[in-house]
Amino acid sequence: MRILQEINTEIMEDRFRSLTIFEFQSRFPDDDACFKYLTELKWGTGFCCPQCGHTNYCKGKRKHDRQCTSCHRISSPTSGTLFHKVKFSMLKAFYIVYYVSTNAKGISSTELSRKLGLRQKTCWLFKMKVMKAMKSSGNFKIEGNTEVDETVVGGQEEGVIGRKNDKKKLVVFAIERKGKGVSRMYGKVIKHSSAKELGDFMKSAIELTANVKTDQWAGYKSLSNDFENLIQVPSGKKGNNFPDLHRAIMLFKGWLRGIHHNVEYLQSYIDEYCYRFNRSNMKEGIFENLMKRMVTNLPFSYKQIIA
Ligand SMILES: [Zn+2]
Repeated sequence: MRILQEINTEIMEDRFRSLTIFEFQSRFPDDDACFKYLTELKWGTGFCCPQCGHTNYCKGKRKHDRQCTSCHRISSPTSGTLFHKVKFSMLKAFYIVYYVSTNAKGISSTELSRKLGLRQKTCWLFKMKVMKAMKSSGNFKIEGNTEVDETVVGGQEEGVIGRKNDKKKLVVFAIERKGKGVSRMYGKVIKHSSAKELGDFMKSAIELTANVKTDQWAGYKSLSNDFENLIQVPSGKKGNNFPDLHRAIMLFKGWLRGIHHNVEYLQSYIDEYCYRFNRSNMKEGIFENLMKRMVTNLPFSYKQIIA
């Protein structure tokens, strides 16, 4: 029995172990190792020409490129992925994915710039691509005990008096409660707390059969037609009807102030935060998971980022 317990403890510890910087460095000593890894991720199950669908290839001019033997189109391990047209070393790009995925709180572009010797703007742009890969796939909806509420994020800076306050954004959050805590969390920036906008978010993040709790806001009322187990509870003083949800929101806001300092790209920040939060119990695979998403997400240009 004791032996079994010890083994169990070991497995648990292993499960919560994140990829250490030492392991990362020995796995990825140089650009070549990064390209090999990308090649395996992209073509590990076989090559397929993006132009004609042919599956035979020969070597391209550059080391890791592959050329279709039918239409002669050349593909690189980065083409068609979020690593497309990265203008700095692939190793540094890998470091950014590593830091963003394994740091419990993420990392600011200023700190990345200091660590990697790249311009802050360069780090910021690439990090926006990483954050795109962190956007929820919508494949894992919340199923259990769910709480939903809206909150205002951003707003007037302290000490700045009289400036027009146009930086506030409305966000709707949903959490899943498990045991004594919050096991999952999703959020979306919305324009109005209308039934339409609240409903669109809830249907994308929550299973229709989940036990959903909201406050008594009219916008949620008609949603009980879709969510069969939705109940509306009266708001307590200072929102103490949903203590877990409000604590989760407060932690998010604290993180946002510390890392991003603004709400301009708030949806990306929410996606980044929720991605890490929802995977905090499976740290070991988080880097690999994010790399896979980087390779399967289509390229994302500077114009699309600032749009
Ligand atoms: Zn081809």
